[in-house]
Amino acid sequence: MRTCTFPEARAVVLEAVTGRPGVEHVPLEACAGRVLAEVARADRDYPPADRSIRDGYAVVSASVPGRVRVIGEVRAGDRFPGEVRPGEAVEIMTGAPMPRGADAVVMVEHTIADDGFVSTERSSRPGEFVNFQGSEARAGDVLVEPGVRLDYSHAALLATVGVASVAVYAKPRVAILATGDEIVPVAETPREFQIRNSNVYSLAAQVIRAGGVPQLLPVAPDRLDETRWLIEKGLESDLLLLSGGVSAGKYDLVETVLAGLGAEFLFDRVLIQPGQPLVFGRVPAVDRFFFGLPGNPASTMVTFEIFARAAVERLAGQTYPALPLTSAPLTRDFRHKTGLTRFLPANLGDDGGLTPVPWQGSSDVPAIARANCYLVAHAGRAEWKAGDWMQVLRK
Ligand code: AMP
Ligand code: MG
Repeated sequence: MRTCTFPEARAVVLEAVTGRPGVEHVPLEACAGRVLAEVARADRDYPPADRSIRDGYAVVSASVPGRVRVIGEVRAGDRFPGEVRPGEAVEIMTGAPMPRGADAVVMVEHTIADDGFVSTERSSRPGEFVNFQGSEARAGDVLVEPGVRLDYSHAALLATVGVASVAVYAKPRVAILATGDEIVPVAETPREFQIRNSNVYSLAAQVIRAGGVPQLLPVAPDRLDETRWLIEKGLESDLLLLSGGVSAGKYDLVETVLAGLGAEFLFDRVLIQPGQPLVFGRVPAVDRFFFGLPGNPASTMVTFEIFARAAVERLAGQTYPALPLTSAPLTRDFRHKTGLTRFLPANLGDDGGLTPVPWQGSSDVPAIARANCYLVAHAGRAEWKAGDWMQVLRK
């Protein structure tokens, strides 16, 4: 038996699970959500030349305020062949390279053009409205490290530096095994003592979001031989997620079966709610990690988010697994019993206020579905007043 607090359990998972995934290539348009497997470097200076960041006139800054002669124009995608001298200007568009000699841009809004000349009452200074060569990145700079989960901004960055085919880590296969004699397939009509198998679907969605490939196994009935057979099957994947069968009940067989397979248990109880009877460990014979997630749907969802998600992300090659915590002011008073860290359904409003969603406990899927986040009530504090800031886990 090893009991952990929430931060202890998370540290155990992060310490234990490291990924050594294979590498594959995807086209740039399919890179978002994948984990970069190579260093992305600047192939040249960015910007590649001094560039105007306004529409206006490129001048020698000391020439203004005053009236200067317009000697030509330069647009983005072109280059001015000559040189700007004091008393002269070149009409310039945003993104165009600065003509030789000019050291600043006067915004078109601050000028009056007349008959080949342009006047401004504004003064300027060297470098004004100019984006200098190499100011964003120097040729050869590392712009993204391997192990970063790519988002749309990385897609733009990789495109900028000319990476059309992106080296990413292969997705880990994550087996999902629900247990319980009362669990029936979704397409069946359950009798009053049965429930449909919802956990494998929330888990599959969560695994996909974490960068894994879910592999759904048939439901294990509460019998040793079949549970063992299905667990062995699940251990063929890169990670095994079990739901149910980890409490102290007579038919909670998961730990017994895993122990029989030589499992090491790194913890089997965490001081959180929902999700206290949470099992995490490794089967050395096959070098695989497993989570025994408690079967109540809210427990399964929450414990995946705060622990198993990190393991999937690590196996996917991500260096820093995400725990999307933030803080928000409560819209009403909140109290709980100390001793457990609670993750309870809540709504973060457009005004930034945090409101708990009423719920009936860990089986209340409708309440979780109504919520857009979880409030995090830490184990050591009992009371929060309306307006107090509370931690929030994004959903
Ligand atoms: P257990 O952890 O096996 O004691 O299950 C706790 C509660 O979660 C029980 O009420 C189960 O019926 C419910 N439960 C277990 N597995 C699932 C599942 N796959 N889908 C939905 N509910 C489940
Ligand atoms: Mg059960």
